[in-house]
Amino acid sequence: MTSVWLRALGLLLLIGSCVFAPLWIIYGLPWALAGAIGSLLLVLGWHLFQLARLIRWLHGPFDAPLPEGSGVWEIAFAGLHRRVRIRSGQQQVLSDTLKRFTRAAQALPDGIIVFNRHRHIDWINKTAENHFQMSVATDQGQTLTNFIRQPDFVNYLDAERYDQPLIYRSGRVEGQSLLLQVIPYGEDQTLLLSRDISHLERLETIRRDFIANVSHELKTPLTVVSGFAEMLGDSTQTYSENEVKQYLALICEQSVRMQRLIEDLLTLSALETGGMVQSDERVELEPVFRSLRTEAEALSVGRHEFSLTIEAPALLTGCANELRSAFGNLTSNAVRYTPAGGRIDLIWRVRGGQGEFVVADTGIGIAPQHIPRLTERFYRIDRSRSRETGGTGLGLAIVKHVLTRHQAVLDIESDPGKGSRFIARFPASRLVPVSTPVER
Ligand code: ADP
Repeated sequence: MTSVWLRALGLLLLIGSCVFAPLWIIYGLPWALAGAIGSLLLVLGWHLFQLARLIRWLHGPFDAPLPEGSGVWEIAFAGLHRRVRIRSGQQQVLSDTLKRFTRAAQALPDGIIVFNRHRHIDWINKTAENHFQMSVATDQGQTLTNFIRQPDFVNYLDAERYDQPLIYRSGRVEGQSLLLQVIPYGEDQTLLLSRDISHLERLETIRRDFIANVSHELKTPLTVVSGFAEMLGDSTQTYSENEVKQYLALICEQSVRMQRLIEDLLTLSALETGGMVQSDERVELEPVFRSLRTEAEALSVGRHEFSLTIEAPALLTGCANELRSAFGNLTSNAVRYTPAGGRIDLIWRVRGGQGEFVVADTGIGIAPQHIPRLTERFYRIDRSRSRETGGTGLGLAIVKHVLTRHQAVLDIESDPGKGSRFIARFPASRLVPVSTPVER
């Protein structure tokens, strides 16, 4: 500031010594005063010019460069320069922070909608756009309840009791369930968070169905067992030896059925809790196939014709017990669902580098709409037939889990009324090359 006054004083001294004094000495006082006034007007004109440049800059575009000044204006412009630099630095920091927050909010797996007290939408992230089929470009400023119209949601907003979230099933996307939570913040702003819980709901349904199925499966044999046990224990009744034998046989049969179901449940649970089969146990399949054929013949008691064809070396890496259980389920199903006089072929072959175990039967076959659901737990086409033949409804679920753990897949082909082919396909990486000596 001092330098401004010093400069002004210097200018006055300059005018005084260079204009006023010489003119006064040479032409007298009037000319000296006229010269001084003229010089001051020149100086004033120059300052007005600088002021005009400053005003033009102030009213110009935001990014226009600040003009350079000279004299006292150099000091003023330098000060402005410094302020502009600091302000634009602060703005840059603010805009970088805002961008970072926006990017973080966009990356969230949860949907976010910001709306105001009039329920007008201020901002939506990408996830919310997907959840509610909205677009930030077209729907910003619109009323939220025009998009989420369900009375449940509108009542939830009206009640303003946001301590509990709301489960929302839109119906726009099939099977979609969202968990909505409203969080008011600031003076006028409210956040609506949405989380997709469809898969949790599906798991919950599966869990409920599973418990209902297991209870149902156990209830029938338990009723039979307890009923006959009660009858036999009733001292007021007498039964012939034959009747007692018959009742005990029924109790035994139902106990075996419950035992089988529990064994299958335990197998399934063990398979589900394990990850991939890491074991590089070398499994010789030929003896497994031979014993499966023998067991299937025993189950068939002469009602079917069997063949076993081993077209390629049958060696896999994996878990012998699991593979035996999966192949055993496929073979016993073929026997159970093929009427007397039918034929069952067991084939091991290598196709396109993949090992394939095929169980082909000439049985009752499967209508196409059932095929995708056969590996679900307790899915049966004909419940009574499955039970009559000792089925638990878990066989193919076990097969699927075992194969998945071996990176293998199950293909099912069927002609209703003519027969079915169940093909377990193993990747080349699980086949043991023939040249590798077998360890015994
Ligand atoms: P289950 O104990 O009832 O046999 P599975 O899981 O082994 O249970 O099989 C599921 C259903 O798939 C069976 O109830 C049956 O309807 C059908 N199924 C399985 N194998 C065959 C087959 N070889 N031929 C016809 N239907 C079959």
